Amino acid sequence: MSMSTPVNAADSGAEPVDLRSDTVTKPTAAMYERMRTAPVGDDGLDGDPTVRELEATTAGMLGKDSALFVPSCTMANLLAILAQAERSEQLVLDSAAHIYTSERGAATFTGLFYLGLPGTEGAIDLAQLDDALAPEGRRLKTALVAMETSHNNAAGAVLPLAHMQAVYDTAAGRGVRVHLDGARLFNAAVALDVPPSDIACWSDTVSLCLSKGLSAPVGAVLAGSKAVIEKSRNLRRMIGGTQRQLGIMAAAGLEAVQTMGPRLAEDHRRARRLSAGLNTIDPRLVATVPQTNIIQVDVSRTGRDGAAWSLDLEAFGVLARPWGKLRLRCVTHRHIDDAAITRAIAAFRSIAARMPA
Ligand SMILES: *Cc1c(COP(=O)(O)O)cnc(C)c1O
Repeated sequence: MSMSTPVNAADSGAEPVDLRSDTVTKPTAAMYERMRTAPVGDDGLDGDPTVRELEATTAGMLGKDSALFVPSCTMANLLAILAQAERSEQLVLDSAAHIYTSERGAATFTGLFYLGLPGTEGAIDLAQLDDALAPEGRRLKTALVAMETSHNNAAGAVLPLAHMQAVYDTAAGRGVRVHLDGARLFNAAVALDVPPSDIACWSDTVSLCLSKGLSAPVGAVLAGSKAVIEKSRNLRRMIGGTQRQLGIMAAAGLEAVQTMGPRLAEDHRRARRLSAGLNTIDPRLVATVPQTNIIQVDVSRTGRDGAAWSLDLEAFGVLARPWGKLRLRCVTHRHIDDAAITRAIAAFRSIAARMPA
């Protein structure tokens, strides 16, 4: 059990309250144990049994035929785009989507145009979507529409299922495929109290990140039809994403998808408590009311920008990332317990007390 030693190192009271991201979560002791005992093979040669099990299990949970284990959710999204769109075609998505704000650089080698449309709480404007899909004039052909839930830049907002269905129906009506960036799909499923497949059904392909709140050390899964996943498997090799005794990592991923979903409700409860606590400090400090595990704190009226708040909080042992110039982002996860929330609220309160009246 010596492998489990590092797990608890981050749990000691002396550690900072790290609200920067749920990506900081360490593997659980059960993950280390499964990694140690997993049957492995060569995933690039004749296959790795634990990877196959992760792919089959996750495909089933997402209601898709097939799945592919990849090193990151960024790669899952990239493969979904490469497998379902051609050069000089267009990807349409809301302009706050992670694929648009953080992954659009891939367009420089995929040769696709990314069309960002306005959205509300991560939900793309349906009239503008319909217009973008209309095959009039000399427009680029739209090959793919992407959605995201829960929505990172919309403070963890969850897309209403009726909206997802409307996007899917609009796209399908034009013969256009839909990809769902479900990096935090399990958070959305917990918030809606539905199985992940009830959300993923409004997409042709769906990505799921294993290394955020689900706490696996690395990896993501892309799920979809057999044909698209086989194409993605070949594309993964082309971009160097094929790995060998990958079952060691897939074992942690299996533990993540099989056991770590329900506990996300605790992260959501603590995010609500953090938000409620921050909103009692001073009317000039405004936290979003979270649906999942992410809150954004508007500091624009506090006389300090996000970077200054971040530095001040660090002095109290609380880590939060500036999100744009005038906001902070706080993310709850497995290493944030009730005491950590209390500490974080107290730190905000101490800093706010220095604000001029
Ligand atoms: C984190 C994130 C990604 C990228 O995940 P990585 O595994 O870090 O590459 C993609 N989409 C969304 C919505 C995310 O939050």
